[in-house]
Amino acid sequence: MNDEKRRECILVVDDEPANLMVLNQILSSEYTVLTARTGEEALDRAQEEGPDLILLDILLPGIDGFEVLRKLKASVDTQFIPVIFITALDKDKDEEEGLLLGAVDYITKPFRNGIVLARVRAHLQILRQMRMIEHLGLTDPLTNIPNRRCFDDHLAVEWKRAIRNKRCLSFLMMDLDKFKIYNDTYGHPQGDVLLTSLARIFATAARRPGDLAARIGGEEFGLLLPDTDVEAARQIAEEIRSEVEDAKIPLLDGKLITRITISIGVSGLLPSPDDPILGLLKKADQRLYRAKENGRNRVCAED
Ligand code: GH3
Ligand code: MG
Ligand code: MG
Repeated sequence: MNDEKRRECILVVDDEPANLMVLNQILSSEYTVLTARTGEEALDRAQEEGPDLILLDILLPGIDGFEVLRKLKASVDTQFIPVIFITALDKDKDEEEGLLLGAVDYITKPFRNGIVLARVRAHLQILRQMRMIEHLGLTDPLTNIPNRRCFDDHLAVEWKRAIRNKRCLSFLMMDLDKFKIYNDTYGHPQGDVLLTSLARIFATAARRPGDLAARIGGEEFGLLLPDTDVEAARQIAEEIRSEVEDAKIPLLDGKLITRITISIGVSGLLPSPDDPILGLLKKADQRLYRAKENGRNRVCAED
């Protein structure tokens, strides 16, 4: 997501080596180019390498380009990869079929080098813009960590995975203690600085690939921990609580350093299809409330 400097990768599929060579020449100064000479090979490479765009010939030995596109669209891993047909089939009905199947463009052979490059550039530009919009929709603008929508999407995926694999799923609900007083004392902009600094601590605590730290609400943050039981989650919560207590957050005027604490409610379960997905959050919320009642700056992982 934040790897914008990475060279974009294009998979070129053509059974004719001379075509592959020319297309490689046209594209390789700007992009990483992968090649495939059959439909099957194209599907394998698309699955394994996840190219940003595919240039796809239609007349291929074995399965043809139309069928390759159908299969790409049927797989969750490849369904959103833009495909441009590049083919000797120059009939309107072929072009129509290709576009209706979901290709983003259709170039007929013999092709002009400059036009291939221009169309590839245009489609990658659209792709970048779409990714940017998606990123903005899933990121909290203040702290730059995932927002509630991103969290909900991720939770739905991990919930299903936990049921399928019969693994525990745990969740931490973290809330700043007496944040209102902090805001009142140091001002709202300083409160924002604090939220941003703490978000960084929470994001760093999300160590494993399925872990996700998100800003759930104003001053509430969540940490989802797949494959983690309540006891392990409680320990992680304790580490985070302690790290926040020790954190030195500079004030905007550069001088003072102040002490801030958080309270954490921890929940975890081995989910079954009958469990309500939001029960995990509700339980953590109840325990967070208890942590507050019991004096704040603490972790509560039981009822
Ligand atoms: P408790 O220990 O019980 O959680 O007390 P609290 O003061 O933290 O809780 P309360 O819910 O009363 O206050 C939450 C405060 O969080 C009030 C609100 O102004 C502040 N807040 C919420 N979102 C933001 C934000 O984006 N920036 C800043 N600076 N403050 C925020
Ligand atoms: Mg609070
Ligand atoms: Mg609150």
